[in-house]
Amino acid sequence: MMLTGLHGVGTAIQQKLRRLAITTLTDLLYHFPAHYEDFSNITAITACATDQAVTILGTIKKISTRRSWKRRRFTITEATITDASGDMRVIWFNQAYIAEQLPANTLVYLSGKITLYQKKLVLNNPVYELYKTETVHTARIVPRYALTTGLTHKQLRYFIKQALQIQTTNYSIIKDWLPANILDQYQLLPITQALQAIHFPNSWAELEQAKYRLGFDELLLVLLFVQATRASLAKETAPSIPFAKTPTKTLVDRLPFQLTNDQRVAAWDIIKDLQHTTPMNRLLEGDVGSGKTVVAALAMYNVALACYQAVLMAPTELLAEQHYHTIKQLFSHTNINVGLWTRSKKIAASFPSVLPHPPTPSPLRRGGEFLPSPLRRRAGDEVGSGEIIIGTQALIQKNVHFPKLALVVVDEQHRFGVTQRQQLKQVATPRGASLLTPHLLSMTATPIPRSLALTIYGDLDLSLLAQLPKNRKPIITKLFSTEQRLVLQKIITEHLANQAQIYVVVPRIEEKDDGARSVQTEYKHWQKLFPNYRIAYLHGQLPTEEKQAVMEQFRAGKIAVLITTTVIEVGVDVPNATVMIIEGAEHFGLAQLHQLRGRVGRSHQQSYCYVCTDVAYPIKRLQYFVKNHNGFALADYDLKLRGPGAVYGAIQSGYFNQFKIATLSNTKQLQQVKAAAATLYPNIKRYPALHAKLQHMIKRVHLE
Ligand code: ADP
Ligand code: MG
Repeated sequence: MMLTGLHGVGTAIQQKLRRLAITTLTDLLYHFPAHYEDFSNITAITACATDQAVTILGTIKKISTRRSWKRRRFTITEATITDASGDMRVIWFNQAYIAEQLPANTLVYLSGKITLYQKKLVLNNPVYELYKTETVHTARIVPRYALTTGLTHKQLRYFIKQALQIQTTNYSIIKDWLPANILDQYQLLPITQALQAIHFPNSWAELEQAKYRLGFDELLLVLLFVQATRASLAKETAPSIPFAKTPTKTLVDRLPFQLTNDQRVAAWDIIKDLQHTTPMNRLLEGDVGSGKTVVAALAMYNVALACYQAVLMAPTELLAEQHYHTIKQLFSHTNINVGLWTRSKKIAASFPSVLPHPPTPSPLRRGGEFLPSPLRRRAGDEVGSGEIIIGTQALIQKNVHFPKLALVVVDEQHRFGVTQRQQLKQVATPRGASLLTPHLLSMTATPIPRSLALTIYGDLDLSLLAQLPKNRKPIITKLFSTEQRLVLQKIITEHLANQAQIYVVVPRIEEKDDGARSVQTEYKHWQKLFPNYRIAYLHGQLPTEEKQAVMEQFRAGKIAVLITTTVIEVGVDVPNATVMIIEGAEHFGLAQLHQLRGRVGRSHQQSYCYVCTDVAYPIKRLQYFVKNHNGFALADYDLKLRGPGAVYGAIQSGYFNQFKIATLSNTKQLQQVKAAAATLYPNIKRYPALHAKLQHMIKRVHLE
């Protein structure tokens, strides 16, 4: 049956429902209440008190509508309702039709709030419903929904009520996809009951049961999806990369620092994964500055030594360029080719195998087929000379092929998911070549608690860099208000005199009316304040070459103060920069602030982070930030304040979007669902409804 089959839904309403993403009866049933109001207790009129939310069951004694004498278009409907205990005055504004709907002597429920008016108790703008045994809008726990203009709660409840009736009488809208034994084992409400109770709960306890069941569904699907991803990956083949022990050791010995223990363990885990022919799918999680790049470099080194290609993808060109320089420097003593491939720059001359496909007239084309040039093993080479290519998303364009791609490292790119992996596979396998899947390593500084990662990202293996390199000192962080500007200026003067390099991050590029500081104005301001120092600016709208030139100079120590937007938020590594000034800090989220602070404190030198705000009221979030340096603690704070979407939402939208109901903090439920998924998955085809739902989700994630 269609939506329009419902009483009261015509084309106009249908369109309004579409705005709420409701196009089917199922959508309607899954449009869960945003919250509830408890009008379940019927209160005797004489027992009513100010500010109380009540339901009164009584008879209308008299009712009339008049125009407001101040504002003529304003109507006031006044009634008296009476029950066994007494009378109460009722007022509705601008709902003149009510006088006709509720003529005298009507037995009615009124739900609303009691207020004091001219020293008397009044029931203000209550919802009304004629007396009946099964109420929808009053005398119960009443659902309240996300609405759209032109659609009222009453209408929506009325439609949902009808849909529920259809569902309860013949189950024709939704079949329960959970098998009976699972319902039994985990004491879950059947789907029809759960849906009934999420909209019209008979008690708070019943509502909890409904939420539990519906949350169970959401988690179960994600966990089944995770199992499916794992299973499909297990069927694919990746190149096996042998561990080149001696060269790896030499490289580690040549590093200007000692690897932390976590770095060693992570690198070893990855190198072991690379030896297998099952594609690696690993997440390397480590706070800002924990040294993820070098771990990835060790893995890429082994790949190159085995005459394969490794690709490192960065979220911005700026970062790609930085990685390129770091990695090139790291491998300067080897004959490994390091290339850069972004939209604006391609330093890849030594890579005959990285070619547009199909290449325009080329000796490499034979018989219409693209022929990958083999990677060279030069005479006298102790080891083969493979390749490491660093770039941005531009790397996975359709017309670029890496015929010997064995490893893809994705840096700080939260949205990297199943689809991109599929894309990469196409990149790695030109027509006719064998279908090899590259190993995948994702790196992130977003702190995902281990237990959560293991459950929700169960298709990923996890390596954690929990410790920062030993040489680091905690970053001294201070909050500055407008009155303390002069103090800050003095501090900065001292820093500059001590040759410090400073970032100044501002929320805007140009001045707007909102008064937030901008790159333009700050740049002028700083030039005036400190005419003897080299000051430069940077933002996303500058041409790439200019951005890179500025970064290069800053890196080389030729710029003292860099005024910038958040283009430098992620990944930028200039160990000599020791002062971070964040202007208009109230504009940034905690995770962002943490990333920004992470741009300093990247060497043995003492670093400073000055958080500035011009707003008059104290901001708790900022105060918390000043005192806390741990990414996990900050994420936790944001989690409580703004919910998981704010913290983890960006990681992999396909997963977290699923949750309307489930809370990831319910570990007991998570455990139960995990167990259920483990028993269900191997026999998933025996449960057609569940299987179909899973297929549907897989398809959706792939389309994202
Ligand atoms: P992130 O994890 O934020 O990507 P990077 O890989 O950029 O961190 O490393 C941050 C800085 O720390 C770099 O300058 C790097 O050379 C340095 N570094 C990495 N590992 C160590 C270590 N074990 N000891 C000292 N410094 C290190
Ligand atoms: Mg990094």
